[in-house]
Amino acid sequence: MQNLRFAELDIQGLLRRIEQELSSEFGKGQVCTTIPELQTVPGSQFGMAVATVNGDEFVIGAAETPFSIQSLSKVFVLEKVLQITGASLWERVGREPSGLPFNSLALLEIEGGVPRNPFINAGALVLTDHLAANHATAEKAVLQFVQSLSANDSIAINERVAKSEKETGGLNFALAHLLRSRKSIAGNVDQILDTYIRLCALEMSCLDLARAFTHLANNGVCPRSGQSVLPELDVRRVNALMLTCGLYDGVGNFAYRVGIPAKSGVGGGVVGVIPRVLSVAVWAPELDAQGNSLAGISALELFTKYSGWSIF
Ligand code: GLN
Repeated sequence: MQNLRFAELDIQGLLRRIEQELSSEFGKGQVCTTIPELQTVPGSQFGMAVATVNGDEFVIGAAETPFSIQSLSKVFVLEKVLQITGASLWERVGREPSGLPFNSLALLEIEGGVPRNPFINAGALVLTDHLAANHATAEKAVLQFVQSLSANDSIAINERVAKSEKETGGLNFALAHLLRSRKSIAGNVDQILDTYIRLCALEMSCLDLARAFTHLANNGVCPRSGQSVLPELDVRRVNALMLTCGLYDGVGNFAYRVGIPAKSGVGGGVVGVIPRVLSVAVWAPELDAQGNSLAGISALELFTKYSGWSIF
């Protein structure tokens, strides 16, 4: 990694340059089609936030507008499970990319109900079950975790988005029942689905997200509070899982173009981690064919290209 010090790079200037260069990327993708409530979100919005391990923060555009984090919640659920139950979760979920859409049933059926990784829907459902079995109020535990990481108590679940996904998310219901029939989910399927869907419906801004991920760039320690969130080894592993599984069947292309661990969600958010340097969150609601933010990926590509920061 080219080890530029923050002082040597004008991060705010870089964000301004990215915002300008991105203008041609809008209108090429489609706002999330799987959750009707998200279709009401105007597509050409853009925000970006950076939080460094030194505690510095930089924002541009709609960086403080809350949006639906969707699958970004899977990182928080994984971290919470690691905190509470440690490594036992790996008996029930794998660590390999799936090469298939995030809500695919195909591999799950073939592979006996053991999801490929924690960042596809099936894996997150198993983790939610694992968390619910070990914590009386899984939803509250994750919500408080996220609020404390972001230093923002107003982070909340958007009830309309949760309701909309409950009414239309048939594939997730199918996944959960398949998992239950293979004994990969032990708890009540409806409750697990409810918690999973509600945590996807959390709303956070780019700035909240950049703050919430900074400890993953800082060996597990939150730079603002000094609080140790996860042991260093777990942090390396969460980053490795994001690098290999964080963008579903678009993950190889993302590693090629951007070259950092990251996680996406169908609300149009993508959060990347540059170990020992910073976390960077971007929001642009129009998605590509894999359900990843089209302009968001381009923004991160420009960010690593112009900064020289990459893990490779
Ligand atoms: N709530 C969405 C789902 O379960 C999350 C998918 C995503 O963000 N990729 O389908």
